Amino acid sequence: MGTTAGQQLRALFYVLPPGESSFRTLEEVPDYVEKSIPFFIAFIVLEFVVSWVQQHKLPGRINDGISSLSLGILSRLPDLLFRSVDIVSYIYVWNNYKLFELPWDSEWTWYLTFLGVDFAYYWFHRISHEVNILWAAHQVHHSSEDYNLFTALRQSFLQRYTSWMFNLPMALFIPPSVFAVHLQFNLLYQFWIHTEVITNIGPLEWILNTPSHHRVHHGRNPYCIDKNYGGTLIIWDRIFGTFEAEDAKVVYGLTHPVNSFEPIWLQLRPLAHIWNTFWAAPGFCNKLSVIFKGPGWGPGKPRLGLPEEIPAVTGNEVPFNPSVPAYLNCYAVIHFAVIMELYIDLLATVAALSQETILLRIVVIILSLTSFGFLMENRPKAVILEIIRCSVFLGVYKLGYLRNELSLLDYAYEGYYSLHVFGIHFTEEDLKLLATPSLHNNNSVF
Ligand SMILES: [Zn+2]
Ligand SMILES: [Zn+2]
Repeated sequence: MGTTAGQQLRALFYVLPPGESSFRTLEEVPDYVEKSIPFFIAFIVLEFVVSWVQQHKLPGRINDGISSLSLGILSRLPDLLFRSVDIVSYIYVWNNYKLFELPWDSEWTWYLTFLGVDFAYYWFHRISHEVNILWAAHQVHHSSEDYNLFTALRQSFLQRYTSWMFNLPMALFIPPSVFAVHLQFNLLYQFWIHTEVITNIGPLEWILNTPSHHRVHHGRNPYCIDKNYGGTLIIWDRIFGTFEAEDAKVVYGLTHPVNSFEPIWLQLRPLAHIWNTFWAAPGFCNKLSVIFKGPGWGPGKPRLGLPEEIPAVTGNEVPFNPSVPAYLNCYAVIHFAVIMELYIDLLATVAALSQETILLRIVVIILSLTSFGFLMENRPKAVILEIIRCSVFLGVYKLGYLRNELSLLDYAYEGYYSLHVFGIHFTEEDLKLLATPSLHNNNSVF
C-alpha cells in the first residue's frame, strides 16, 4: 500500500492516526522506515541550517556523521537477506499461541498497541543498559560523542536479536499488521529527538520523550547514567523511577569512549571485552555475572556497579577527532554518497535480484564502510585498504553485479576507470601524509 509524502512525514512524529495507519494484513503495511530515508536527509540538512543560524556552529562532524550513517546502513543489511526476527517471532507466537484476536480496524487496538510497543521498548531499553550482554549490542547507539540527527541513525545490527522477545506478549492478542505499524512508528519517532537545536517543548515534556530528555540518556555525566529509557513516552521513566531532567551541560558518548569510526569494530569491541573478562573472572557465578549483570559490575560490587566509579566529567572533554586533510574528507564524503546510493538502490530492488548479487553488494558495502572508517581515523594502512576496496568495487562492477540504472554508480565507475591506476587518487605527498599516524590518534589499531 502506498503512502503520501505528508503521511510519511507525519509517521516520523507518530501523528498518523488509526484511520490512516490500520491494515488488515501484514503485506499491506508500508515500509515506513525505508520510505523515510529522503526525510532523514532533509531533516539533517535542516538541522545544519538551524544550528548555523542559531548558534553559528555546525551540529556535527564529517567523521562522526559518516560513522553514524555507516552503522545505520549496517544495522539494516540483515533485512536484505532475512525477514525481521521481530516480525518472524511475533507471527510464530500469533499463529500458535494466540489467546484471542483484537479487531485490526478498531481505534482501541491501535492505541493499546501504541502503549504496548512503547512499554515493551522501555523495558527492552532499560535491560539493554543493565545486562552486559545486551549492552554489548546496544552500546553502539551511544558511541557517538556528538548529538545530532546522524546519531539517531547510529543503530546496532545486533540489537534486533535481543529486542524481539520483549514484544511477544502482545502476539497473544494483537494482530501482526497492527504491531508492525507501531514497531516502525516507535523507531521513527526517536529520530527527531536526537538534536540540540530544540531546547524544550513546554508541557509536552511531561508526557513525551523529547530532545531534552533523550540528551540526558546519551550523556556520560554521572547524573545521566541509566536514565530516560523511554521511546515515545517519558511516563514510563517517571513511573519506574528512572527519570532525570536535563541539568548540567551534557557530555555525550560512552563513559569509556571507543575512539573509533570503524563500524564493525564499534559494534564488536564490547563482545571482545566481555569474552576477556568472562575468562578472567574467578568461578562460575562470577563468570555468569559478567554476562548478566551490568556493564559496570565487578566481583564484590552491586549489580549495576559502583556509582563512584563512573568517570567524572568537566565539560571540557575533547571528542575523538583525528586530523585528516580536507581533500580526504571530500573524498570520503563523495565515495560514501556512492555507497549510500548503492544501498538505497539495493533496498528498492532487492526483490528482483539474485542472492549472489545481493551478497556481493553487501560485501562491497561492508568493505567500503570499513575503509571509510580507516580513512577517517587516518590509519597508516588506510590507503592499502582503500586500494583493495576500489579493486573489489571495480571487479564486482565489471562482472555486472552493480549495474542496474544507477546513474551515480556509473558516474563513480567512470571516475575510477578514467584514472586507470587507483593510487593516482593520491599524490606521493598525500600517500606520505596518509602513512603518518595522526598525533591525535592514540588508539589506532594498526
Ligand atoms: Zn540507550
Ligand atoms: Zn538515542
